[in-house]
Amino acid sequence: MQIYKVGGAVRDRLLGQPVTDIDWVVVGATTEEMLAKGFRPVGADFPVFLHPKSGEEYALARTERKNGRGYGGFIFHASPDVTLEEDLIRRDLTINAMAEDDQQNLTDPYHGQRDLEARVLRHVSPAFAEDPLRVLRVARFAARYAELGFTVAPETLELMRQLSESGELKALTPERSWKEIARALMEDQPQVFIAVLRECGALKVLMPEVDALFGVPQPEAHHPEIDTGVHTLSVLEQAALHKQPLTVRWACLLHDLGKGLTPEEEWPRHIAHEHKGLKLIKAVNERFKAPKDCQELALLVGKYHTHGHRALELKPSTLLELLQSFDVYRRPQRFEEFIAACEMDARGRKGLEQRSYPQADYLRGAATAARSVAVQPLLEKGFKGPELGEAIKGERLKALKVYKSASSV
Ligand code: ATP
Ligand code: MG
Repeated sequence: MQIYKVGGAVRDRLLGQPVTDIDWVVVGATTEEMLAKGFRPVGADFPVFLHPKSGEEYALARTERKNGRGYGGFIFHASPDVTLEEDLIRRDLTINAMAEDDQQNLTDPYHGQRDLEARVLRHVSPAFAEDPLRVLRVARFAARYAELGFTVAPETLELMRQLSESGELKALTPERSWKEIARALMEDQPQVFIAVLRECGALKVLMPEVDALFGVPQPEAHHPEIDTGVHTLSVLEQAALHKQPLTVRWACLLHDLGKGLTPEEEWPRHIAHEHKGLKLIKAVNERFKAPKDCQELALLVGKYHTHGHRALELKPSTLLELLQSFDVYRRPQRFEEFIAACEMDARGRKGLEQRSYPQADYLRGAATAARSVAVQPLLEKGFKGPELGEAIKGERLKALKVYKSASSV
């Protein structure tokens, strides 16, 4: 048997990028031979194994044939007579379809190295269209390598467009889609992921609620960029620049969905967009089965981001409601993430990227003030049950009044 490094490890070495995980392909071997060498099978009917020591993935060279819709609809053929070239042609992009032996000799039948040098993301063969996940993968690689100057080849974009129009994207499972979305959002330029999806028409299929924001104007005084879609991309860009976690990035992407529902007569104003957007945020959350923390933060940021911006003007009672809604006493981290999302929203505006955001520290101070209320003295006074709850709230309100007047001198 011959063993080759394939995929990302080859690509990233040639690009001079750090190599995180290594995928291997094995030519000329049978499942029995792999098992005899101590490799552990990954799945029952999938010719992929884990190395007994390194845990890295070794796949038998295979060909694929499409048979029906979705990812389940593939017939694999793995046998010792499948060649390296036959295995490489089923891969998504030319830059991902190179292999390397242990002497670093490159096998590159589909000119991946040429495309690496030209900074082009290009599909290997028309079979690209057989797995709609590749649309998301290409958009993700575009985001990852935007910094290096990579763009999607026009003919690949055209295939992605056809795939988006065909309805095949709908056959993707939430789990597969979310994995790509989450990885793409964590890249340095996640806004490129959304922009590429939009360009090929996939955004309209996957997240029509986000797609609908493009072309919707906002008041120029607060939003020099005017367009709500452009603003959303900038907020995401800021979130990445500021190294925010996935929860915050997800919330940034969805925070203004309500603006897509405003009747044109009301443009550029968006009255109550926070509230109107909630059902859309819920729909997107559920469509991709986003993790609970992402779902929660997106809904809270959608509902309260304008509260964040107006923090310094909020009445103590409104501040208290905000803090209670976040359960800031038991969930301080979630409130920090809310503050971060609001700050990214404020900075994700043309020419205002460097502005200061005093609301952030003000909100932190308010949380500290409310949290400093001690429960013990109230217990000692004999408060119990719902009365105790009311008494605590009353003390927190007092603390916030003191905080607000102390901050405004
Ligand atoms: P990363 O650095 O993100 O791991 P990668 O290119 O190694 O990038 P993997 O998901 O680890 O990505 O996949 C390894 C290789 O398998 C890819 O380089 C590609 O050749 C192939 N591959 C993975 N998923 C697909 C797919 N859906 N369609 C076609 N080829 C794929
Ligand atoms: Mg990999």
